[in-house]
Amino acid sequence: MVQHGELIGLFIIAKMEGEYTDVHYTYSNEEIALAQGTARLAALVIAQVRLLEEWAATRATEQALQEINRRYDAFISIASHELKTPLTTIKGNVELTLRRLMKLNHNLSAAQLDQLRKPLETALQRAQVQARMIEELLEASRIRMNKFTLSMTPYDLADIVEEATKDMQQAVTDRAIILAPVERPVPVQADIDRIKQVILNYLTNALKYSNPEYPVVVHLTREDGFARVSVQDQGPGIPLEAQKSLWQRFYRVPGIEVRHGSGTGLGLGLYICREFIELHHGHVGVQSTPGEGSTFWFTLPIKETA
Ligand code: ADP
Repeated sequence: MVQHGELIGLFIIAKMEGEYTDVHYTYSNEEIALAQGTARLAALVIAQVRLLEEWAATRATEQALQEINRRYDAFISIASHELKTPLTTIKGNVELTLRRLMKLNHNLSAAQLDQLRKPLETALQRAQVQARMIEELLEASRIRMNKFTLSMTPYDLADIVEEATKDMQQAVTDRAIILAPVERPVPVQADIDRIKQVILNYLTNALKYSNPEYPVVVHLTREDGFARVSVQDQGPGIPLEAQKSLWQRFYRVPGIEVRHGSGTGLGLGLYICREFIELHHGHVGVQSTPGEGSTFWFTLPIKETA
């Protein structure tokens, strides 16, 4: 029995023995047609049973995978919460010690004071990097477990872009961040904090992966009913192959090094950005040429108020 060119079984028939044993029995055309029809039907039944078995196996694998993913997300969520609590205490205490140290009436020289201040500042910086990573893990697991709500407000996107650019420039004083002229207003309906987080994430990456001597340029434009924010750097650029995977969880482009600031990332930032923007019915994307730089962008629907 052959199905779709594949041998799936043998259908064997034989005449009864007995009074005909020494007779050389031949099969009539009707008997041959009947045998062929029966074989065809049996082949169909076999193929159907096989399909059902395959389907059941696939379903079992899918269910097992879903369960593994569910347990993994739950674990990440619990572990991140447990890591966050002591870290918050560490950060708070280091900040407090730094403040007390600066207010202290002491006879220390500037060099001696620096010897105490600098390690504390480094500890605080590292704790902040770690806190940001834990926050990303929590945010990603909230997205995965659908425990995530947006608080939508009508807003001028130009204000959010300006605020995010200013905040970043204040935090990173040794880099040039240029906001190209914007035609106001650019009305959107958005969760302001989340959208600001996306812009800050694009800016952080642009600064982190490009050389300090090059500026990062931010544009806000309008096109076809959408507002478009783009962050352009003159960093290493991203190979076409890697561009497809950029928005996946935990993906980091092999061979791209951190060129500015304190590095280490989990490969979650862009995944979170895409989820936020798509929940706002917008789109994300990147234009990038290796050796020339990258422009990460997102769009949001314009919501003109009547
Ligand atoms: P990470 O925390 O690792 O930066 P992201 O999700 O924000 O995670 O980015 C994923 C990866 O994409 C990064 O690890 C980096 O390899 C690459 N990437 C992101 N932004 C840029 C950029 N502006 N220039 C070059 N590579 C980038």
